Amino acid sequence: MIVERKPLTLWERLYLPAIIGGFKVTVRHFFKRKVTMQYPEEKWVVPEGYRGAPYLVKDQAGRTKCVSCQLCEFVCPPKAIQITPPGPQPNPETGNVEKAPKEFEINMLRCIYCGYCQEVCPEEAIFLMRDYALIGSHRDELIFNQEKLLALGGTHQDTIQKWQHK
Ligand code: SF4
Ligand code: SF4
Repeated sequence: MIVERKPLTLWERLYLPAIIGGFKVTVRHFFKRKVTMQYPEEKWVVPEGYRGAPYLVKDQAGRTKCVSCQLCEFVCPPKAIQITPPGPQPNPETGNVEKAPKEFEINMLRCIYCGYCQEVCPEEAIFLMRDYALIGSHRDELIFNQEKLLALGGTHQDTIQKWQHK
């Protein structure tokens, strides 16, 4: 079935009703309360429990809480974590028993902020924090190494420290 297209009237062909209608919408919104956030001048207030970028933490004694068990590397769905396990770490206080990663990298371009690494970590050494805007001028800048992850993660105030004398 062919539907005949109704010819435009002279008034419609001037397009004035459409233009005036459009202006009416613009003016109506101009005086409404603004809902668009002027990012980055305005910053979002991150709610409690938000799952942002994962960072490593130290305990109150300044020890890297991670013991390099590699569970987080194993569970990470997009394989964003890469851990280089430690070699022997002779330490007069702890002997050779204290473990910490030699290198720990998280590729923030791969991370999907799922939180599995935080959930699986037996040492409470990695936490999803509140950072949601990670920027870099090239891809390598978004592969965070251990030093950077620890600096961003800071100290975790915990009753249990990594190493305590009896
Ligand atoms: S939050 Fe998820 S994707 Fe990101 S590093 Fe942890 S396990 Fe991997
Ligand atoms: S962050 Fe936690 S789960 Fe990952 S290697 Fe370190 S101790 Fe293991």
